[in-house]
Amino acid sequence: MTLIFSNHKFQYEIERLFRSFFPPMELKLSTDKADAQGDYCLTESAAAGNVVTLSVELSCDGKRYSMSRTVPASTPGKDQEREMSVLLYKALREYTGRELPWGILTGVRPVKVLSKLTDEQAAQSMLVSPRKLQLARKIQQVQKPLEDSIPTNSFSLYVSIPFCPTRCSYCSFVSHSVSQAAARLDEYLRRVCEEMKQLAAISRHLGLVPDTIYFGGGTPTVLSAEQLKRLFAALEYFDLSHIREFTVEAGRPDTITPEKLHAIKSAGAGRISVNPQTMNDEVLKAIGRAHDSAQTEQAFLMAREVGFDVINMDLIAGLPTDNFDSFAASLDAVCGLSPENITVHSLSLKRAAALFRENSGNIPGEAEKMIDYAHSRLAERGYVPYYLYRQKNTADNQENTGYAKPGCESLYNTYIMEELQTILAVGAGASTKLVDRRNGRIKRITNHKYPYEYLDRFNDILENKRDIFGFFV
Ligand code: SF4
Repeated sequence: MTLIFSNHKFQYEIERLFRSFFPPMELKLSTDKADAQGDYCLTESAAAGNVVTLSVELSCDGKRYSMSRTVPASTPGKDQEREMSVLLYKALREYTGRELPWGILTGVRPVKVLSKLTDEQAAQSMLVSPRKLQLARKIQQVQKPLEDSIPTNSFSLYVSIPFCPTRCSYCSFVSHSVSQAAARLDEYLRRVCEEMKQLAAISRHLGLVPDTIYFGGGTPTVLSAEQLKRLFAALEYFDLSHIREFTVEAGRPDTITPEKLHAIKSAGAGRISVNPQTMNDEVLKAIGRAHDSAQTEQAFLMAREVGFDVINMDLIAGLPTDNFDSFAASLDAVCGLSPENITVHSLSLKRAAALFRENSGNIPGEAEKMIDYAHSRLAERGYVPYYLYRQKNTADNQENTGYAKPGCESLYNTYIMEELQTILAVGAGASTKLVDRRNGRIKRITNHKYPYEYLDRFNDILENKRDIFGFFV
């Protein structure tokens, strides 16, 4: 299939929407109308006088669909892009007989986009389904008091530990097996501590006070208890007297030990995650995990024993070899442990993942059934959805939703996802996001992605951080 962009600049959005109907399809991209041969989709903008005609022509399997719309030439580019997306959506809906639950929305933060629209606009201009709109509205409602509670001049601190024991087959994250990174791991930790020291000095100078702390991965608990302690010691560079939340994403159950949990607890963390992804041992094997569901349960109970009273558990809908009954059993098993947070992801197949190349073998519609089941089952158990984000190429075009027992919502997850608070981030691949809440201005400063780049170009990283001063003057 050839996707052609003729005379317009909406490539990114149009390609994303197109792929939402057909992940993971081989697609040839072109800007030349002469490529409109064989199976193709031609998207075109043609200006004439004071109007612009937007059109989509889809020719596939001997069938042909044509749609167009004329708008005044003064129509802003964003609105023309939306009109073009609606035409493409309708052509693909005709061809596939399918609707997408999020309509033409392709971005990471649908809740944020929808918060600026009325229900009518969401349904008519964005073609969002009533079910997803209702979910987004519920989340907005839960988030409101969390947003209102953000202290002025505060920030969240994110520390990136991009290492894992081994790589899961569906993972496209820049995570390195810890055995590969072993030679430079201590150097990495030293640099992360150094970067924390610099950020503490910058934040003090600007009068910014840390509000939440999040150690994420990868799998932070791939570090030894000693290494974790060394890392946590660097928090002393900051004024911790106003911290409202401190989370460590432990992640893989096979990395969790009582010593590490005690190190995390003694550092002051109140939240932890133990992420099973599935409680089906066969599926765990299929995704390349080296633990079983019994170890997940043990790790969870160990965390309770050490005194963590807010624990998150992640599940994924649409994993290879999984099916509805097994997913439902996993969800029920996790609910049986009664964690305060449950995050339900839909499998996202990115190009970097081994599974993308091998094709996941998913049954169409199965992931959607799983997500719907999770939503109703978790509501019955008293969990409320409180944050949501989307990724590219997800099974059945679904989303990732964080559920919490009321009062146990993660502030950090809410603030980062809705871009409500400045995040100062350290470590490889970490993205600092400066947020000016008065006018919605946002600036990102991204660290080098791979640990070796981060180490080899550490001085650049420190230098780039000086841009924080410019943003806040
Ligand atoms: S634990 Fe998470 S980050 Fe690590 S390899 Fe698996 S999916 Fe990727």
